[in-house]
This record gives sequence, C-alpha cells and structure tokens, in this order.
Amino acid sequence: MEYVVSARIAQLQVIDPGEIRRIQLELPQDMEIDGRRYVLSDTMRPGTAFLAKPWGSRTDKSRRRMYTRSNASSHEPGLLETFINHTHRPQADTSIWWQSEEPDYWHKIGKTLDIRVTLDEMHGVASVYENTTVCKESNLRLEPDGDWEKRQLVCIAFGTGITPFLSYMRHIVHRQVKKKNEEHRGSITLIASVRHAGQLMLHQELMEMAQQFPQYFRYIPVLTRSWPSSWPFLKGRIIRTNVLASGEEHIDLRPLLEIGLDLSLSDLRVCGSVAACRQLQQGLKEQNISPLSQRMESW
Ligand SMILES: Cc1cc2nc3c(=O)[nH]c(=O)nc-3n(C[C@H](O)[C@H](O)[C@H](O)COP(=O)(O)OP(=O)(O)OC[C@H]3O[C@@H](n4cnc5c(N)ncnc54)[C@H](O)[C@@H]3O)c2cc1C
Repeated sequence: MEYVVSARIAQLQVIDPGEIRRIQLELPQDMEIDGRRYVLSDTMRPGTAFLAKPWGSRTDKSRRRMYTRSNASSHEPGLLETFINHTHRPQADTSIWWQSEEPDYWHKIGKTLDIRVTLDEMHGVASVYENTTVCKESNLRLEPDGDWEKRQLVCIAFGTGITPFLSYMRHIVHRQVKKKNEEHRGSITLIASVRHAGQLMLHQELMEMAQQFPQYFRYIPVLTRSWPSSWPFLKGRIIRTNVLASGEEHIDLRPLLEIGLDLSLSDLRVCGSVAACRQLQQGLKEQNISPLSQRMESW
C-alpha cells in the first residue's frame, strides 16, 4: 500500500521561461489515515529524491515522478524544494506541465499535490519517502555526517543536475553555522554548467556561501552557449567531444582539467544527462585519471 500526503505549492519561480522552474512544496504538520493521526517527519538525506504526483500535460492524468531535493531537511524541514527542467523529449509529460501556467493556477487556488510517505504505525509517524537509503556509485545520497568532512568533494552539475549539490551545500552550511565554524579538513568544489546566465540556479546564494566559507567551498559557474561580456567565470563546455576522421569519439577534458583541480585526489560526484556522465567517464578513462571515489546520477 502506498501512502501519500497532500502538499501545498508554496512557491513557483521561473528561472528560465519555458525551460527551468524552482518549486517549493509545503507539507502539513500531520495527516490522517483511516481515522488515525500521524505526525509528519522529514529527515531526507541531502542528495536523495522525493516522489510527487504532478499532472501530465501529454497524458492528461496524474503521474508519479521523482525529484531530487535542492534544500535540506536539517535546515528547512517540511519544505521540499526542487528545480525542474523541460526535457524536450517526445515523451515529455509532467516536465511540460511544470513549465505551463497550470501549476500557477494550482498555487493560486491552493490545490495540493500528493507526496509519497512511509508509515511507522508503531510510533504514529509518517516520513517523507526518499528514493534511496544507501550510498551507491549510482546515486548521490550524501555520505553520513562525520564521513563527508574527510573528503575533497568535486561536484560537477549539468543543468538541473545541480539539485543534489545545492542540498549538500545548504546542509553543510547549516551544520557549520550550528557548530560555530568547527574546523574540518573536507571541502566542496561545485562546478555548475548551464547554457546561459538566465539558467543559473541560486547563483547569488552560492556566491555568498563561497565568500562566507572560502576554506570549504569553491563555486565555479560555467556558461556554455552565451555569456555577458563581463562574465568572470568559465565560458564554453568543460567536456568537449571531437569525432576523429575514423569516426571514433575522443573526449577532450582539457577545459575541466585547466580549472586546476587534482581529480585523482578528489571524490568526484556528477549529476546530469546520461550523455554528459558517459562522456566524463570516458574522458577520465582516456586520461588515466582515477578519482579516490566516483559517484554519478543521471535521470
Ligand atoms: C532519482 C530521480 C531524481 C530526479 N530529479 C529530478 C530533478 O531534480 N529535476 C528534474 O527536472 N527532473 C528530475 N528527475 C526526472 C523526473 O522525474 C522526470 O522524469 C522528468 O521531469 C521528465 O518527466 P516527464 O513526465 O516529462 O517525462 P518522462 O519521465 O521522461 O516520462 C514520459 C513518459 O515516458 C514513460 N517513460 C519514461 N521512462 C521510461 C522507460 N524507461 N521505459 C518506459 N517508459 C518510460 C513515462 O511513463 C511517461 O509516460 C529525476 C528522476 C529520478 C529518477
């Protein structure tokens, strides 16, 4: 039996019109199932996804879709934030709906969206369902507290693939502030690649975090298609593909390597399209670069 809780659309923000939206869903404090009250608990780990039931524009019915959370339960419990892009795939269904005016109407009239929860009957608790409870190479669930602090994480995000890493950053900043800037050896470098400046997600917040905690965070935004003349960060694709005369594909990682990170001493985390993740993996293999650990997720 699958249980759901009704969440209110608390905020909808257009990042890039028709392409990317920021969504916040607010959960109630408690819910009722079969006449029994359950307290809502939100302990989602950074890097995991929740399951929502948005509307499908193509199929004209409610669909089940996973979204990686971009804020952190430690910081904002009960508020599920994510960034959703239009996939432009022939099968695109809910991703079109999110970019339409329909969610704005739902927001206006207070229409709710179902979010999957798991029930703990014994304690009367309903917890927000998360897509994975273990750290694997194929997911981006953040390592337990006490573990990530020892790592030099290099996180590469393509488009809305930034969502798990936004959650990492917010969780880590929240912990740092709570622990009064207790020293640790770990660090995070976030490389966020999007097409143009209008697609940057939480750019200002990330700049401020990097300024506040320069010993822990490095933020490197990349614009691949167009950029303002004054753009001080990276321009163009960080991973390039060259098709050789033989038809063989060669991956050029030079733009990424020129950033000056020692990937072989890093814990590499990547989130983006299947093609981007595959190209990066192939490029690392061609260059004989083996990060200390490597975890990738694509949707
Ligand atoms: C763990 C996880 C986290 C995610 N996080 C985000 C996020 O943060 N932001 C974001 O924008 N997206 C995220 N996604 C992708 C998101 O869930 C949707 O898949 C995406 O928005 C596209 O939705 P869609 O309805 O337009 O099309 P699709 O999900 O591509 O589905 C279109 C249609 O194709 C069918 N279909 C899809 N895949 C298959 C298949 N393999 N075999 C057969 N039929 C199939 C579906 O049933 C549907 O009818 C995540 C996905 C996963 C699994």
